[in-house]
Amino acid sequence: MGKMKTEDYIKREEKFGAHNYHPIPVVLERGEGVHLWDVEGKHYYDFLSAYSAVNQGHCHPKIIGALNEQAKKLTLTSRAFHNSCLGEFEEYVTKYFGYDKVLPMNTGVEGVETALKLCRKWAYKKKGIAEGKAKIIVCENNFHGRTITIVSVSTDPDARKDYGPYTPGFITIPYNDTEALEKELKNPEVAGFLVEPIQGEAGVYVPDDGFLRKAASLCRENNVLFIADEVQTGIARTGKKLACDHEDVRPDILILGKALSGGVFPVSAILADDEIMLTIRPGEHGSTYGGNPVAAKVAIAALEVVEEDDLSAKATELGEIFRSEMKKIDSDMVDIVRGKGLLNAAVIKPKNGKTAQDVCLKMSEKGVLAKPTHGHIIRFAPPLVITEEQLREALEVIEKSIKFFD
Ligand code: PLP
Repeated sequence: MGKMKTEDYIKREEKFGAHNYHPIPVVLERGEGVHLWDVEGKHYYDFLSAYSAVNQGHCHPKIIGALNEQAKKLTLTSRAFHNSCLGEFEEYVTKYFGYDKVLPMNTGVEGVETALKLCRKWAYKKKGIAEGKAKIIVCENNFHGRTITIVSVSTDPDARKDYGPYTPGFITIPYNDTEALEKELKNPEVAGFLVEPIQGEAGVYVPDDGFLRKAASLCRENNVLFIADEVQTGIARTGKKLACDHEDVRPDILILGKALSGGVFPVSAILADDEIMLTIRPGEHGSTYGGNPVAAKVAIAALEVVEEDDLSAKATELGEIFRSEMKKIDSDMVDIVRGKGLLNAAVIKPKNGKTAQDVCLKMSEKGVLAKPTHGHIIRFAPPLVITEEQLREALEVIEKSIKFFD
């Protein structure tokens, strides 16, 4: 058999893999920093970063070093025993984000599920809500992952249709609506408010200034836990360690995932103080892989890179350049440009039947990889290690790709 080509890889996936994704037709083989190469040797700039998991850049040498070193020693013990790395990670991450305790899991959605379980436990053990009655408020157009409970709180028909019966105990309000929140908080059975500081999957919806601060303070007044899903917005993506930091909000439960491992290994975690976290006792929650030695070492290295490479400052500075240059593109296809730090999106108005998908395909031909969300929005989220020169080069490609259809 001769050397496989792009189409051969794609056909094989189509034949043997479930059809639950619709990828841009490139087959990637190698990555380094902001760069990706496909199986034909073609070079791209990554403008998705695996949905903000690869903030530190592909195959960051320090993180890969930590992975390799630990992988040779010990990979998994389960939590039936202690391991020599977990405590080091727990101390590091709790001091890094300023919480008493951490509970490690693997994927983002497991982090969210863990936060919901912890919130319910706290509701019964501390707040005194009657067993089985606790409610958690969520927002329209949220994205928190793909499990049954999480799609139960989704308002996106693609995410939830045909997956019922759904998990009860949730109240949905519009995003960015403190009046609706205030009204629902009057219900004494409400235990928590789960929110993304910026709605990433929905299309990078940035709430009004003051929304998070007001929402957190309303929660506090009503003895309700403010739960921030920072799986996509956290770890320097928006120009601060956490997107909540823009408004000096400290969530009662903080959910992290994705870039907590720099895209090297699935690592997620929730952080909270003792009063909340210690309501879950031994045997009441867990995960075989959660807190494994490789994850612990990889996550420490990934967080160290954020500091050493000053990624928050880079996201702030380059994010401003990105938005201002995008707004200058003279095309009626570019409707809105929005975002914070290096989590940005452009709303694309279809022209002559050409949509955001066509723009992304043209960009990939020209060497920049991004993916539309909800048909008409393109998210732009390069690894935070991108340089200004690389950013400007990619901006030229983005502009040319949009103008191609003008
Ligand atoms: N929460 C948010 C805000 C996300 O953006 C995502 C993934 O995109 C998740 C949770 C789920 O993470 P995972 O896909 O690792 O389960």
